[in-house]
Amino acid sequence: MDKLFSPSTVHQITKKYKFKFEKSLGQNFLVDYNIIEKIITASEINKESLVVEIGPGIGTLTAALAQHAGKVKAIEIDRNLIPILQETLENEDNVEIIHKDILKTDLGELIAEEKDYKQVKVIGNLPYYITTPIVMKILEERVGVSDITIMLQKEVADRMKAKPGGKDYGSLSIAVQYYCEVEQVASVPRNVFIPKPNVDSSIIRLVIREKPAAYVIDEGFFFKVVRGGFSQRRKTLLNALSSALNMQKEKLEELLKLCNIDPIRRAETLSIQEFATLTNKLKEI
Ligand code: SAM
Repeated sequence: MDKLFSPSTVHQITKKYKFKFEKSLGQNFLVDYNIIEKIITASEINKESLVVEIGPGIGTLTAALAQHAGKVKAIEIDRNLIPILQETLENEDNVEIIHKDILKTDLGELIAEEKDYKQVKVIGNLPYYITTPIVMKILEERVGVSDITIMLQKEVADRMKAKPGGKDYGSLSIAVQYYCEVEQVASVPRNVFIPKPNVDSSIIRLVIREKPAAYVIDEGFFFKVVRGGFSQRRKTLLNALSSALNMQKEKLEELLKLCNIDPIRRAETLSIQEFATLTNKLKEI
């Protein structure tokens, strides 16, 4: 098979298999080797790595991953792509093609089947319509993944890596940074895909922390408080939280002061540590 990242190969394959791009599945295939190289380099894969690839498409990134990794488990939802992948990856004996929906896949089981590898890495040019659920599933399930290198919509990447104080900082920034350190790898223009998407992209790397960024007594409650704080971004923390948590303002004000948090601040100025301190105090009462 000719170079998969060449636009003419993509056209040739889609014609041969009468493949129709499914917009609802976020199908935009990469046609630029530089981007593939950036993903490979950033992910630091080697022969001791097990790679779980999300959405292999016609196998462009998969073939490159197979050259560097010990094994690649590639999960693809679209059954029309399976025969294509079987052809494009026929010479890669360390690739397992799995026809499944990533959101319905038991990642723990998938990883536990493989005992021979030192680290497990998740890599993918993600289907943009479900980026956040995919990332949160991997983080929340704590299945032993060491890091995640993904291409995603630029705006979502900006929110994942945002620091307190700006408009991009919100509950997604806190959820991701609670579990990971976020590194920006590259900005990606829309013209490196077929078909061309309507948005620009970024490649980011999420390195999963050994311990979360802050100690919280009850994680479920912590995320509830964070979401509550951001539920009305323009309101003060006091107003947003008293309505989200259905709490008396006087009581909440007292508590915020005990945590050294000025009640007139807005949620977007609070660090993860401050949210954690506040949640733990709320939990105590
Ligand atoms: N990796 C290929 C590339 O870079 O050219 C394709 C990337 S394309 C942006 C996203 C891929 O994810 C598509 O092949 C699509 O069919 C697949 N996909 C969409 N939803 C999925 C899901 N829920 N589970 C697994 N794969 C999915």
